[in-house]
Amino acid sequence: MNRKAYTSEDFAWVNWTPEIIKQKINEAIEAKKVCYAVIKAIAPSERTFTNTVFAIESSEYEHIDAIAQVEFLMHVSPLAEVRDTAQEMVDVLQKAIVDIEYDPDMYRAMQEYAAKDDLLVGADKELFDDMMRTYKRMGFVLEPEKQQTLKDNLKEIAELATGFEKAIADHQDHIVVRKEELRGLPEAYINGLKQDEEGNYIVTLAYPDYIPFSERCDSAPRRKELIDKFNRRGGPANIERLKRILELRTENAMVLGYPNHAAFKLEDRMAKTVEMVTEFYKDLQKIVTNPAKLDLQLLAEMKKKELGDSSARLAYYDIGYYIQRDKMQGYAVDDEVTREYFPLERVLDTMFDLYASVLGLQFVRENFPAWHESVLWYRVDNANGSLVGYFSLDLFPREGKYGHAMMHPHVQGRRASRELDAPYVTPTCGVVANFNPSSGTTPSLLSHNEVQTLFHEFGHAMHSLVTTAVHMSQAGTNTARDFVEAPSQMFEYWVWEREILKKMSKHYVTSEPLPDELIDRMIRSKNHAQGYSILRQLFLGSLDMTFHTATEPIDPVAVYADLYKQMFELEPAQDQLWPAGFGHLMHYDAGYYGYLWSEVYAADMFARFRTEGVMSPTIGMEYRKKILEVGSSRDEMESVKDFLGRMPNHKAFLADMGLASHDEKGGEASE
Ligand SMILES: [Zn+2]
Repeated sequence: MNRKAYTSEDFAWVNWTPEIIKQKINEAIEAKKVCYAVIKAIAPSERTFTNTVFAIESSEYEHIDAIAQVEFLMHVSPLAEVRDTAQEMVDVLQKAIVDIEYDPDMYRAMQEYAAKDDLLVGADKELFDDMMRTYKRMGFVLEPEKQQTLKDNLKEIAELATGFEKAIADHQDHIVVRKEELRGLPEAYINGLKQDEEGNYIVTLAYPDYIPFSERCDSAPRRKELIDKFNRRGGPANIERLKRILELRTENAMVLGYPNHAAFKLEDRMAKTVEMVTEFYKDLQKIVTNPAKLDLQLLAEMKKKELGDSSARLAYYDIGYYIQRDKMQGYAVDDEVTREYFPLERVLDTMFDLYASVLGLQFVRENFPAWHESVLWYRVDNANGSLVGYFSLDLFPREGKYGHAMMHPHVQGRRASRELDAPYVTPTCGVVANFNPSSGTTPSLLSHNEVQTLFHEFGHAMHSLVTTAVHMSQAGTNTARDFVEAPSQMFEYWVWEREILKKMSKHYVTSEPLPDELIDRMIRSKNHAQGYSILRQLFLGSLDMTFHTATEPIDPVAVYADLYKQMFELEPAQDQLWPAGFGHLMHYDAGYYGYLWSEVYAADMFARFRTEGVMSPTIGMEYRKKILEVGSSRDEMESVKDFLGRMPNHKAFLADMGLASHDEKGGEASE
């Protein structure tokens, strides 16, 4: 299927004004209403897959790109009025969509079509099954009052969730420290901090300030002060929002006949049931609890020794700090030193070469309009020169910009119409990150962790662009929620391969690649405190599961504190409001387990590259075809089995974490 090349006009959306944004969203809402009215008006005898199932699937095709673009601008526009209007209109849209989609007549239309008992196969069958299940999950089998309850609750949840996320994004706080209190932090970091009139330094909660400070500042009281502020992000209002959201979610799940919200959410994931997740967690927790305890004991010993006080206890604000210290003593990998080997430009060049050769692609700079002067556009072609798609890079922090790293589509791939020879809509997407910009004579330098983040987000971008799925809802990263990270997590393994590290690194002053012994230490330090870090993942996932399997109102702050004590055997922060800043609860609800879940699959898939060549274009093309291109046009488990040629298991994952040898037999991760 041919893909159309874009010109500057196709990127006019980057300059949309608040007025245009309002108009676009209102048009999208109107168009969807019209589309649904047409579908409903069809006589039962006239129903076909195309005029019913595909018509519903494609009811937004004409406006979906505008919607994605408005959502994207909400995160990245440098203009506050654009971000605010986008936010406001996304709210309006979400509410309107709930109204439009909660239409029993649409379910009736689907039932009329279902009664025809057409023989469907492949992507069409997946689409039909998904849609029927979705309508059932929307409550159309229920009596009208119960349907109304569901609908009202969902609207309220959407509103609360937007408020929750905004409260985190807008939350600003800082501490003021004297120069001597910054001991332990590198000069470059200190020079990058803002200063007040008295020459004191201002450390904010923004990640580039917060993370190095919480891990490296020698002053425990100041660390505690900043971490305590961080642990209150979102504020008390978010705790109230969260409580209400949990209540509403539980009510909805029960109305639909599920025991709790998690059971409802997991039904259409790869995991399918709460029991599967519980088993998966139990298995892993059994293996990592002891290594995690040893990690924490070691940190506690360090603190005692350092303070010369055998009664000193490890505290929550010490963990990151001593992990970093231990790493530097034991493996002496200083993120700030490795950073000097990763100038952004070099990293990008190497990353492009790698993805290009393994996935059979080429990347070419383009000069399309952008929302900010620092943004770069690229075209992606197949090795034979045919077009694949486009992506943008927006890599430096700005006020009001999305604070983490992400990939966000602007145009999602799909076949333009039901005609078999219809053109394929060329996908475009954006990679967003917040790296240190260049300053003076120093280029933008990435920590190794940031390199990994970039590979991850870029992996999502490739997943999004190489798609060949005919239905948009099955294209690119539109996969089961607990699988969507796996393809990207697999690409992260590349940044741990010696050969690749050698190619990618170039000291910004000496031009030397990373020395071998430094690579050795990096690889060893990767598995450093891995027991603790997996336990932390299990903790966050368990917190999420506890919130979403509760059937009675709960106090999220107390649940956090209790679980923290239980799993880490440590006291949590006194006045924490930690759950108020746990943004994942909004859209990854009952889904946090997915990170580890998908890592297990990622490790298993990378094991094939490890055996047959980490940069093998043969395996790369197979990966592209069997995992990336198909998206969710077939069951994800089928795709994984197809690529692996066997059932998946967690052997490779545990071995990669240094918690088992590569030959040791592990249990089955999942059936
Ligand atoms: Zn991701």
